[in-house]
Amino acid sequence: MSVTFDPSLCVSCGACAAACPGTLIAAGDGAPARILYPGDCWGCASCLKACPARAVRLYLPPALGGRGGLLSYGTEGGRAVWRLERPGRDPVPFPWEPEGEGDY
Ligand code: SF4
Ligand code: SF4
Repeated sequence: MSVTFDPSLCVSCGACAAACPGTLIAAGDGAPARILYPGDCWGCASCLKACPARAVRLYLPPALGGRGGLLSYGTEGGRAVWRLERPGRDPVPFPWEPEGEGDY
């Protein structure tokens, strides 16, 4: 798995790099965030949740997201909302409320 960053949204705060348990991301150096070791990403989505600019998306396996399927993260009314994004289709939201701090 791997992630992709939208350089037009990234404010180079470094939060995604700090959240990544694998130290796979370079960020916070004035340049847009980028993944250094995409093959080592296991898709924990911590960087998506940490990004205040919602600039990070997770590539989905084709069986889940089809060709080019991405997962995005946001919040609405205090609830987490994940969205499945596929080229040429409307995003599909699925609200999900975590049960506790750090719960995945
Ligand atoms: S999804 Fe997890 S492992 Fe992959 S880059 Fe983001 S924080 Fe690191
Ligand atoms: S957390 Fe978001 S805004 Fe901050 S460096 Fe990472 S991608 Fe850019």
